[in-house]
Amino acid sequence: MAKIKINIKDGTIKKNDHVIGIDLGTTNSLVAMVNQTNQQPYCISYQQKTFTPSVIHIGNEGNITIGEQAIQFLKTEPENTIFSVKRLMGKSYTDLKSISGKFGFNAIEDNSNSLVRLKLNQSIFNPIELSSLILKSLKEKAEKALGEKVNKCVITVPAYFNDSQRQATKDSGKLAGLDVLRIINEPTAASLAYGIGLKKEDEKTIAVYDLGGGTFDITILNIQNGIFEVLATNGDTLLGGDDFDRNIVYHWIQTLGLSLEEIENNQQNYQNIRLKAEEAKKHLSSNKTYNSSIQLLDETYEISLNKETFEQLISGILETSIACCKKALNDAELKNTDIHEVVLVGGSTKVPFVVEKVTQFFNTAHINNQINPDEVVALGAAIEADILAGNRKDIYLLDVTPLSLGIETAGGLMDTIITRNSKIPTKAGRQYTTSVDGQKNLKIAVYQGERELVEHNRKLGEFILNNIPAMPAGLPKIDIQFFIDADGILKVEATELRSSVKQEIVIKPQYGLTDEQVESMLLSAMQNAEIDLQNRKLAELKSEAEQLIYQCEKLIKSNQTLLSADEISKTSLKINDLKSACNILNEQAINQEIERLNQLTRPFAERLMDEAIGNALKGKKI
Ligand code: ADP
Ligand code: MG
Repeated sequence: MAKIKINIKDGTIKKNDHVIGIDLGTTNSLVAMVNQTNQQPYCISYQQKTFTPSVIHIGNEGNITIGEQAIQFLKTEPENTIFSVKRLMGKSYTDLKSISGKFGFNAIEDNSNSLVRLKLNQSIFNPIELSSLILKSLKEKAEKALGEKVNKCVITVPAYFNDSQRQATKDSGKLAGLDVLRIINEPTAASLAYGIGLKKEDEKTIAVYDLGGGTFDITILNIQNGIFEVLATNGDTLLGGDDFDRNIVYHWIQTLGLSLEEIENNQQNYQNIRLKAEEAKKHLSSNKTYNSSIQLLDETYEISLNKETFEQLISGILETSIACCKKALNDAELKNTDIHEVVLVGGSTKVPFVVEKVTQFFNTAHINNQINPDEVVALGAAIEADILAGNRKDIYLLDVTPLSLGIETAGGLMDTIITRNSKIPTKAGRQYTTSVDGQKNLKIAVYQGERELVEHNRKLGEFILNNIPAMPAGLPKIDIQFFIDADGILKVEATELRSSVKQEIVIKPQYGLTDEQVESMLLSAMQNAEIDLQNRKLAELKSEAEQLIYQCEKLIKSNQTLLSADEISKTSLKINDLKSACNILNEQAINQEIERLNQLTRPFAERLMDEAIGNALKGKKI
């Protein structure tokens, strides 16, 4: 039964909005949806295939080929064909220098920190644009299958993706004509596909083991009240099923007594044997032996592989993955027996020996591998999409901010607006004012971190609130609001309330933080808590003193005729004393000089006040 939504404002019937779930993968990408008749998620297939290889070819006329048809160009026009775009998301040329040789892409050498740009045929693309091409083709496949337009989606990303990589993924969606309702972590999606975390009372610690074609990720998740918290991530960005294939190739070349160099130097031969190796590997996932023949260097050879030999060939690779699991558990301060369930993701977990090794390591843990590991992330994304489409009111999914967010206030102090571990989406705000008369511009600098002084925190960005009407210091009411959306993207809005002058920025940090960086920032905040507090007190005192100096200097300047020469010189002297106390940063001295200056100026401040009132009365006619 299809659901009908009625807009309660104007009584119109809204057409069912399709929200699709997208697994934007390194090797393959998939799109999935929840069937509204039976509530089951399914991957949308196109020409009998559920996945689209994440490969893009750009032709001479700028014509674009995506997926299966683009694969052939990897052999014939490698310079105009790109794969593994996901590895480039949010990265600059400088970041990628070390791996560019391995993936053979033509990056434009700008040695800058801005997004990398690639030259494909005559055109130049950045990774956001390239990913958007894949997303667009997935969107079109979904539209063909459904016979309706689709414009909303959920996209998954690895748990270790930082802010800028998430923002880049979101921007790709926008560019593809999709409203990205949420970016969710791949391990979270995989858990959802198994129904883990869908019940509010679920309270579990899960390990998600994701072994794909070229990458391995292990994520430890804690699930509580529908909140998925990433406790630790680890992995190897250059480890996967491709390494299984390569080891089989080496084994065959050795047993056939051929020269590796000779085979490797001939692309056609190498591709032949590599494809055979992949075929053998897949065959051995459900059989004990593999036999075939192959054309190599113009001769036909018989090849075979049995399960035992294959397992020996990959055991070293699996050991490496298990070492990453150990590190992740260590980082999460957990033992293997603390893990309630394991979820297997990625095509390479179809290998029974992988399942065996993972089961062994996590000991008693319950292994979830019943759902096709190629599709599990996309299916979970579809479930999240269904929830966001409003089809499942019983569920909500939340995330938390890893570090506090705030702005710089006088004296270089951090003023926290959203505290660490706040559930997102969230918003919070506070009011500020100016410290100088007639101040027309106010710089708002946004920081992330737990330290008291902004110089120890991480600057996310800054902007200027312009055109504040001239007012005496302290009068403008500047309201600063922080909004964090469900993807962890921060928007800061500043409004001068008396004049309604408004300015906002969306913070898209150039580089986000890795889990280790977050950890080390938290650690240094704890270690420096005491000294930070002292520094804060001193900075606050100094800023109070500066405010007093400013007021006193103003008093003298604007009342030259009403004050005696003696009063002026005495005040100037005390102002200088306070200035020097501030310069040597001595708390006691600053306190003392503030008090002295206050005492000295109080009587004539009162006198000036009386005078002002008198003048005002004189002018009034009754
Ligand atoms: P990625 O996450 O990198 O996009 P996938 O999760 O799609 O990758 O996994 C691709 C890998 O899975 C490839 O190395 C492929 O050979 C391997 N694979 C796919 N099916 C099987 C199978 N039945 N047995 C063993 N390996 C498989
Ligand atoms: Mg994957």
